Amino acid sequence: MSSVKGVVCHWTATPDTTRPADNYPSKSIVTFGRSGLPGPLCNLGLGRDGTVFLVAAGLAYHAGSGYYQGIGANGNANTIGIEAEEGGDGDWTPAMLDAYPRLCAALARFYKLPTGRVIGHNEWAPSRKIDIRSWPGGMAGFRTRVQSIINGSAAPATPKPSTSYAELYGGDHMETLPAGGAEGGIWRCESIPVPSILREHDLVIAPAHDRAVVIHRINTWKNQAKPMSGPNNKNPGGSGSVLNDFVVWETAGKSVILPQGTAKIDIWYRSDRPFRISIAPRP
Ligand SMILES: [Zn+2]
Repeated sequence: MSSVKGVVCHWTATPDTTRPADNYPSKSIVTFGRSGLPGPLCNLGLGRDGTVFLVAAGLAYHAGSGYYQGIGANGNANTIGIEAEEGGDGDWTPAMLDAYPRLCAALARFYKLPTGRVIGHNEWAPSRKIDIRSWPGGMAGFRTRVQSIINGSAAPATPKPSTSYAELYGGDHMETLPAGGAEGGIWRCESIPVPSILREHDLVIAPAHDRAVVIHRINTWKNQAKPMSGPNNKNPGGSGSVLNDFVVWETAGKSVILPQGTAKIDIWYRSDRPFRISIAPRP
């Protein structure tokens, strides 16, 4: 990065479906990039709860070709890029509405930039980009807010929500799975969401009754918009099986680790009684 002449505001356009599970589900993509576009894809990330993530300290590939008065045409080398976790549909949280302009005000103050150098990606590349058009009042409204924060005339910050695991994700996930399946290879399948893709989890299968539970397969899935069915793990979004053909005896229970990045599991099983499972974050 040569010199900081401006700040470019983006949204991640990540589908809403990942949000109940995560504060900043785009973190991996903005850090490491995607196929055909190596990362880092921004310098800072803004989560749903207003948390700011430091993604890259130097050059990041966020602006692409474009131009803005006072910045020039080399956006990646001359601007700080911020990717906010927003799908492009205007669904900003109150915490983001407070934190996004505050973050830009802090950057403008630090780099001694006029508020006019805080711009939207849609202003940098109007023919290609629409982020962050859904901001209330557009970028003009955004800059008015930034200026009022710099002037000290903005209302005080709203309290930052706690980011403890339990408060973000509702604590451990416990569920009683219904009886189902039968001898002869008829399996019941239940899909269970995993609270956060940012953590490894312990999945514990505890029958808590005097009959065994027969597990055919437990498949793990990454982020995906639509539910998948079928015991094979070759569908898009599938990231493999963590348990195959296993009997969980009544008193023993069984614990397996769900890898980081798992958004959902499918359990294929046979049990003639309902049984308990829990999904808890690993320390
Ligand atoms: Zn953008």
